[in-house]
Amino acid sequence: MRDTDVAGESAADVLDRAGFSPQLQLIIERFLAGVVLDPALHSDAAFVRSLVGYFVMGSPGIPAQGMTAIAEQLATPIRGHITVGVSVTSMTRSSDTWHLELSDGSERHADRVILAAGPWKNAELRGAPTPEALGLTTWWIAAPSAPSTHKFLYLDLRERPQLTNASVVSNVSPSYAPAGQHLLQATAIGAHGLSDAEAITATADLMQADPSQWRLLTRHDVPQSLPRIPPGGQTTTPAGPGLVIAGDHHHASIQGAMSSGADAARRAAQ
Ligand SMILES: Cc1cc2nc3c(=O)[nH]c(=O)nc-3n(C[C@H](O)[C@H](O)[C@H](O)COP(=O)(O)OP(=O)(O)OC[C@H]3O[C@@H](n4cnc5c(N)ncnc54)[C@H](O)[C@@H]3O)c2cc1C
Repeated sequence: MRDTDVAGESAADVLDRAGFSPQLQLIIERFLAGVVLDPALHSDAAFVRSLVGYFVMGSPGIPAQGMTAIAEQLATPIRGHITVGVSVTSMTRSSDTWHLELSDGSERHADRVILAAGPWKNAELRGAPTPEALGLTTWWIAAPSAPSTHKFLYLDLRERPQLTNASVVSNVSPSYAPAGQHLLQATAIGAHGLSDAEAITATADLMQADPSQWRLLTRHDVPQSLPRIPPGGQTTTPAGPGLVIAGDHHHASIQGAMSSGADAARRAAQ
């Protein structure tokens, strides 16, 4: 099947006519819900198919030093040219020049700007409409013993799922766990309404484990996790002169953000 065969359709539409058995379709839907953060899978079919392609081409992993290792690796060759710890509070253009005000009170002026502050901040800074945000909550739990040795995700396949997925993170990356313990994660997407206790009970049910010795380390609520990529793709207001927009707004993933960044660098250099 080519991209043109699914143009303008949602992933849910395409899955419905794919002919999977009901059980396999449920597994695929619940897995993909945790990838695009939408249980209804009302996301662009071509986008979701490209994500599936990445899963097929390689094994998902997490850096031993945490996700910031990716940014550190990208920043290392240009470290001397980067300022960190300040944010852009406004940007205006006059006389072919962009004027940026920074949170430390200083200003920057440039004929070209690459704006890569995430979809919502990008939109806010340039006064464009904000894309729909999809959110999640992740509970991080310490356990004295690992409920399993699996490196796989546990999917909540119940008729009324509470969680989207859970996993024993330290089976994949032991360095993420508190010393001498194991680290579990449980994730729920959207407006789940779960209390911490309910989330822990649901995790134990999924893993068929005893939670009495588990300890909640922290809970992350991230309402702006990913932009929705609607069927037909995300439309964005044209950037205008001297401005290039980079990020995951067209392909909600690290891969999409990095590829957009490389493209932005090429365009800004022209
Ligand atoms: C919990 C969670 C789990 C995820 N898991 C995965 C996954 O497993 N695989 C995957 O592919 N993707 C995953 N994603 C999505 C992925 O993280 C994003 O798609 C990607 O980080 C987007 O990159 P970006 O550069 O567009 O934006 P961001 O990574 O958000 O980077 C924007 C940067 O701009 C900075 N910034 C913001 N405002 C300003 C300002 N005013 N001035 C200056 N700087 C500013 C921010 O501090 C930040 O450093 C996940 C996201 C979340 C929230």
